Amino acid sequence: MYDVVVVGGGPSGATAANDLARSGHKVAMIDRDGRIKPCGGAIPPRLISDFDIPDEMLVAHITTARMISPTGRKVDIPIENGFVGMVDRADFDEYLRDRAERAGADRHTGTFLRIDRDAEGTHVVYRDKASGNECSLTTKLVIGADGARSKVAAAEVPGGDKTPYVIAYHEIIKAPGKQGDYDPDRCDVIYDGRISPDFYGWIFPHGKSASVGMGSMIKDVNLKDATAALRQTNGLDTCETIRCEGAPIPLKPMDRWDNGKDVVLAGDAAGVVAPSSGEGIYYAMVGGRVAATAAAACLATGRVKDLKLARSLFMREHKTVFRVLASMQNAYYRSDERRERFVSLCHDIDVQRLTFEAYMNKKLVKARPMAHVKIGLKNLAHLTRLVPQAYT
Ligand SMILES: Cc1cc2nc3c(=O)[nH]c(=O)nc-3n(C[C@H](O)[C@H](O)[C@H](O)COP(=O)(O)OP(=O)(O)OC[C@H]3O[C@@H](n4cnc5c(N)ncnc54)[C@H](O)[C@@H]3O)c2cc1C
Repeated sequence: MYDVVVVGGGPSGATAANDLARSGHKVAMIDRDGRIKPCGGAIPPRLISDFDIPDEMLVAHITTARMISPTGRKVDIPIENGFVGMVDRADFDEYLRDRAERAGADRHTGTFLRIDRDAEGTHVVYRDKASGNECSLTTKLVIGADGARSKVAAAEVPGGDKTPYVIAYHEIIKAPGKQGDYDPDRCDVIYDGRISPDFYGWIFPHGKSASVGMGSMIKDVNLKDATAALRQTNGLDTCETIRCEGAPIPLKPMDRWDNGKDVVLAGDAAGVVAPSSGEGIYYAMVGGRVAATAAAACLATGRVKDLKLARSLFMREHKTVFRVLASMQNAYYRSDERRERFVSLCHDIDVQRLTFEAYMNKKLVKARPMAHVKIGLKNLAHLTRLVPQAYT
């Protein structure tokens, strides 16, 4: 009998398994393995410090973010006092899974099928990869961390099959080195309706390779054509393509993360990705940690309602940032005119400081009161078209 079986060994599941094993719980982690998670791999310093990520996991240290508008205006934002780390998910996820195993979690490789329940308890049924057999693990609790379009969420938690998604697609290319407009220390974020009418495109350097991609919720958008256009405009069309892959990014945290019985969700499975940026790795790891905390509380007290702690602990810390990012996406991602204005706003040094502080350290900092007033007024002026698009 396990205390907890974690389904999924991505950043959220591996973090939950690691935390639970370290706190002395009997824990198993099932991951189907064999597929690299499509991901830009950008992680903030707060993740690196909170989750003890060794420097050798970072394939690039990004020191500038470039915002590019529909008319091609470029605003470079230097990342003060730090850097954005880039990870390759094949190595990063394996490192996290291995760390959980070394902490004492039992690791199983196979595909989750369903949860059965009988008088003896809750049984997590999966197809073992090596033998091809159906196997079952008996447990007190389950953490569903099986990513976007989670099978655990769909089967166990109301609303788990209704999360809205952006489909993101990227191509991993051989990096050209520092030539033309490509800079291995700079992330480019492209706000242009021709690349994505409702999200954005990106060029993220990863040392020897780079991730070039975009996302959209609109079914008619041809993701491959848009990425080809992005590569061509940026002189990357002749670089060797290593992998092409896409995956959904959830757009809205679910209202409930537990089934009121024995299951709690974490990470993408719970719909938790930051609006407007699509950043999910940090929030998945926090999700894994709060799910582990909630499961440990539930095991200690026997109170099923302690599973709700996962969502409430998460929201206490991140609700405001999610709300601000969602209103930013609603206001500025709807037309090229708005995107142009958004890039204009990025010229403002106070906007740059506040945005990057929020990204790097996951806190909304208090700036000089007049800076907040100034940003508020500029925001208003752009949204009401009181200033021209290119106004800074
Ligand atoms: C193209 C793209 C680019 C992105 N770029 C960034 C970025 O630059 N920075 C950032 O922070 N976020 C980014 N994200 C979001 C980020 O990748 C996710 O939010 C994050 O991976 C979520 O972690 P997770 O552990 O919840 O889920 P996942 O990483 O999806 O992990 C789920 C795990 O569950 C396993 N699994 C799934 N189903 C089963 C099953 N039935 N049985 C057994 N195992 C199963 C999978 O093998 C996987 O290992 C991007 C997403 C996409 C699609």
